[in-house]
Amino acid sequence: MIEVKNLVKQYGDHIAVDHLSFTVEKGQIYGFLGPNGAGKSTTMNIMTGYLSATEGEVLINGHNIFEEPEEAKKCIGYLPEQPPLYMDMTPLEYLYFVAELKKIPKADRAQMIADIMKLVKITDVCERLIRNLSKGYKQRVGLAQAIMGYPEIIILDEPTVGLDPKQIIEIRDLIKTLSEKHTVILSSHILSEVSAVCDYVMIIAHGKLVASDTPDNLSKLMLGSNVLDLTIKGNKTMIHEMVSALPDIDSMEVHDSAEPGCVDIVVKSPQNVDVREELFYKFSEAKCPIMMMKSSNMSLEEVFLELTTDKASTKQEKKKTFFKKKEEENKKEENKEEKESSNESNI
Ligand code: ADP
Ligand code: MG
Repeated sequence: MIEVKNLVKQYGDHIAVDHLSFTVEKGQIYGFLGPNGAGKSTTMNIMTGYLSATEGEVLINGHNIFEEPEEAKKCIGYLPEQPPLYMDMTPLEYLYFVAELKKIPKADRAQMIADIMKLVKITDVCERLIRNLSKGYKQRVGLAQAIMGYPEIIILDEPTVGLDPKQIIEIRDLIKTLSEKHTVILSSHILSEVSAVCDYVMIIAHGKLVASDTPDNLSKLMLGSNVLDLTIKGNKTMIHEMVSALPDIDSMEVHDSAEPGCVDIVVKSPQNVDVREELFYKFSEAKCPIMMMKSSNMSLEEVFLELTTDKASTKQEKKKTFFKKKEEENKKEENKEEKESSNESNI
């Protein structure tokens, strides 16, 4: 549906978008997540034909945005960071103006505008001047403008920035409703927002794509395994031997604990293996009480910080590790599928 290939945008010496490539499939909510200055708005402005690229290609339903801008733009509704509103118009006047710009057939305009105003809940204020509307309502008018003509793809740049919590929830619900009929791409520097709304997340830092997956997979893949933190009362050597003898464990670390007579251990097991019961019985048999046991998979927040924090020397390494883990994960999945399908053929 959307293909972005090797996109580069340079402002003088500064590279705002650095060889960005990704594809967007139909019917999901995609989130561009990244700190301020990561290159989200620049990328969206290029994808929607508002800005030229230094290098690279953007295809919208097969139409090159630079070579066939009209065809490509028809498929997209865009709400830029600063909504393009005319303060001296009412929402109704403004939406008629947008309908004309978007060449909506005259006969369809009144119905479409009424329906969209109802959808974004601005019918009540449609005769007031836009300048007198609250920030939340202005944002809805901006959204109405993006939805006009019901384009297949709706691109929203930081749609909830500056809104109060109630308005944020309303706009999020609206975005979810939109995703029933449209593919939605939104950007945000707020992690909780992206994980609450998006099916798929692309993390961008310094103009580069550093990770992309579902919110769940991103937190799992970062470690590629289940990690448990435990505090056990007992002898360090004995506990070490006991845990390392368990078959389902990938690795373990043993440290002195802050609690007297205890050791802290970190146990890593493969992703689909849960060793908590095994550990419980083992330690209880050995009369080593478990004082604490908790799962310590990385939260999406930690993944985000890991991937976007400015540590240039290690960033490349982290990215490599991330994608390597992802590759391994994919291979495992493939093997599993192969096994499953060979099982099926045996039946
Ligand atoms: P984001 O939307 O992720 O906050 P932007 O795409 O707005 O990031 O900006 C990416 C980088 O490009 C930033 O470092 C910003 O300062 C720079 N930048 C954006 N627009 C311009 C411009 N018109 N001229 C020069 N630098 C720019
Ligand atoms: Mg921005």
